[in-house]
Amino acid sequence: MNQPANRQWKLIARPEGLPKRGDFSFETSPALVPADGQILVRNHYISLDPAMRGWMNDARSYVPPIKLGDIMRAGAVGEVVASRSPAFKEGDYAVGVFGMQDYAIAEAASAQKIDPAIAPLPLFISALGMPGMTAYFGLLDIGNPQSGETVVVSAASGAVGALVGQIARIKGARAVGLAGGEAKCRYVTEELGFDACIDYKNEDIGKGLSRHCPKGIDIYFDNVGGEILDLCLARLARKARVIICGAISQYNNTGPVSGPKNYLSLLVNNARMEGFVVFNYASRYAEGMQHLAAWLREGKLKSREDIVEGLETFPETLLKLFSGENFGKLMIKAI
Ligand code: NAP
Repeated sequence: MNQPANRQWKLIARPEGLPKRGDFSFETSPALVPADGQILVRNHYISLDPAMRGWMNDARSYVPPIKLGDIMRAGAVGEVVASRSPAFKEGDYAVGVFGMQDYAIAEAASAQKIDPAIAPLPLFISALGMPGMTAYFGLLDIGNPQSGETVVVSAASGAVGALVGQIARIKGARAVGLAGGEAKCRYVTEELGFDACIDYKNEDIGKGLSRHCPKGIDIYFDNVGGEILDLCLARLARKARVIICGAISQYNNTGPVSGPKNYLSLLVNNARMEGFVVFNYASRYAEGMQHLAAWLREGKLKSREDIVEGLETFPETLLKLFSGENFGKLMIKAI
């Protein structure tokens, strides 16, 4: 059989600051034939994640850096078009780290079969995928929100943040978001049901936090780091939990990361700050999936996807995460 043409984005230079098109090459070659135990997947939707920026650096992290010349690492959902594994047959759908390309060869053991009858495909890399698991386990396992507590979350209209606030509400807590711009803030309160949202680009952040968290912040779910983390630290309630999920404001720094100055607030409030990587919860994904799917079905949880057409747009589409141009879980439609 003639193998179909496979377009692939490869990392060819380590970006300085914001990534640019020249840091990648866009190449076409025939898709490979799967070997024993492998599957060939046609990617349908490919996830764009802030973490991609970190994977491009030659630095120690929770996964090895992408080697220069390697395919850009990316999560995706797609259709199995050839299988040499009993675990998959042609026509099955799978989620995995399939890369920024049309077709992926994957070890069957590293791919997860999904049932497209449960939800539209994009949801499997959104609320029912990695961002969903991040919100679910980060908030519930580390934060353990209690009824009546105040949960603050940054990047509140985004893939993870939107779910965090909604899950906080499901658990009976108050949800206060921070997002960039009036439209996103309106969405967060009116559509997602948060109690309040601070437009950090146009409002005084500290005043907004003090106004909406009069008894202090019980849980701060941090997606952005930087100044917002500091302002939240200064307003912690006793026994507060600060969840370090991400620090998108720092990912493109060419100088050192700016760390929190107000960390002594942890001491005086008997509070705790804890980071986490979602992949460490892999053995419990089925539990997360079950709850998230039920909440979606019951209309208690809303998910918004920002879908950009065309694999060829990858370098520019990625930048939307850092300018705040994405509105919802950002992904590329590859087919
Ligand atoms: P997202 O929120 O859908 O998109 C990123 C958003 O970040 C942008 O839309 C923008 O929203 C905001 N942002 C960008 N630059 C900013 C800045 N300088 N200051 C403040 N906000 C800024 O992305 P996501 O996939 O849900 O990821 C959110 C965070 O979770 C990231 O830090 C990511 O690395 C982290 N994460 C961690 C794990 C883990 O395992 N720990 C897993 C997944 C994601 P505005 O328009 O509101 O500014």
